[in-house]
Amino acid sequence: MFKKSIKAYKEACEVIPGGVDSPVRAFKSVGGTPPFIKKGEGAYLFDIDGNAYVDFVQSWGPLIFGHCDKDIEKAVIKTVKKGLSFGAPTLLETELAQEIVSMYKNIDKIRFVSSGTEATMSAIRLARGVTNKNDIVKFEGCYHGHSDSLLVQAGSGMATFGSPSSPGVPADLTKHTLLCEYNNISQLEKCFEESSDIACIIIEPIAGNMGLVPATNEFLEKCRELCNKHGALLIFDEVMSGFRASLKGASGILNIQADILTFGKVIGAGMPVGAFAASKEIMSHLSPEGKIYQAGTLSGNPVAMAAGLESLKKLKANPKIYEDLSKKAIKLVNGLKEVATKNGIALQVNTRGSMFGFFFCEEEPKNFKEVGKCNFERFATFHREMLKHGFYFACSQYEAGFICTKITNKMIENCIKTADKVMKGLKN
Ligand code: PLP
Repeated sequence: MFKKSIKAYKEACEVIPGGVDSPVRAFKSVGGTPPFIKKGEGAYLFDIDGNAYVDFVQSWGPLIFGHCDKDIEKAVIKTVKKGLSFGAPTLLETELAQEIVSMYKNIDKIRFVSSGTEATMSAIRLARGVTNKNDIVKFEGCYHGHSDSLLVQAGSGMATFGSPSSPGVPADLTKHTLLCEYNNISQLEKCFEESSDIACIIIEPIAGNMGLVPATNEFLEKCRELCNKHGALLIFDEVMSGFRASLKGASGILNIQADILTFGKVIGAGMPVGAFAASKEIMSHLSPEGKIYQAGTLSGNPVAMAAGLESLKKLKANPKIYEDLSKKAIKLVNGLKEVATKNGIALQVNTRGSMFGFFFCEEEPKNFKEVGKCNFERFATFHREMLKHGFYFACSQYEAGFICTKITNKMIENCIKTADKVMKGLKN
């Protein structure tokens, strides 16, 4: 069933390290060969062997409207016909900036970049430049892209490969990264007692890179309180949760406001994009207004802006979309939980808006260490079997899943029926 993909993977491995351009795609944690994708359509992915899958990954989040949404496609094609890139300002950038900024109380200005990694890296520089401090607080299992100082106990791809950090990152560059356990208030307090040089806390308020593990309100309140008390800035990394957890991301469902927000893939609807945003005052420090340097040849790329803008307009025009996505995510995980219980398999499930996660373990994990205790072998078998039956889940228990508008209740029901059969075989 994967004959052509196996051949394609071998060929890719000859010229691309591990055959992939981002490590998690290699399926190392679940085994087997990743299907090579020929095309997507709505809820479905089609591989080069002709297999079709209901896609619960949606390019790791960006495709809220699924593959090849007609409106987004039209906006992109219209823009492409006028030129791919100018390296000069366009009206599309201002329009998307206005749309995003108008949705949040705490941000006045936004700067577009080309990836989530750039967004968080730039946000950290901004926080350091504004506060004139050096240390940053990061949490185990939160992934903020692959920039040097943030590649310390990052979840998902890194966790899957069991590397707490990466060779090639000098210790000198990570010595300012203070690592704390997610949802652990006393560790965080201790961190602020020990350093008077903390520029910021960066956190995924809904962590999606150690599976789906939301921060507790109490923990986020403590983050806010400590930042206020010590003159540090709070950064919510909403690269994954922005426009996914709700129309206003995690910020929209929490009572806590961050000083800087970072966005990524989702605001580009599948095109490479990222952004960071803050108050007028904070953003005024950024070049060319201020002295903190940050730049990008392809930043604010018109095609990416057009895709993001169309997606955002569609979402704003019909906020009921979130209710529907959320109901489907709940239906899926509740169904999985039900068939797991029926088959005597311990499964913990979680959702936030259209994001979902499930863990093969007895207790709901609250941090990275607890996620590490889940049954990974069982996850791998479940993943492989579901794939064979046409359901494409994220290929690691450290990753979240995503629902798009094209996924129907019927598809979810079929998925649960299949999971029931698969779980029967998981018991032994
Ligand atoms: N921050 C979060 C929360 C992410 O989930 C990711 C990627 O998955 C990033 C940052 C990095 O984004 P990118 O892969 O676009 O560099």
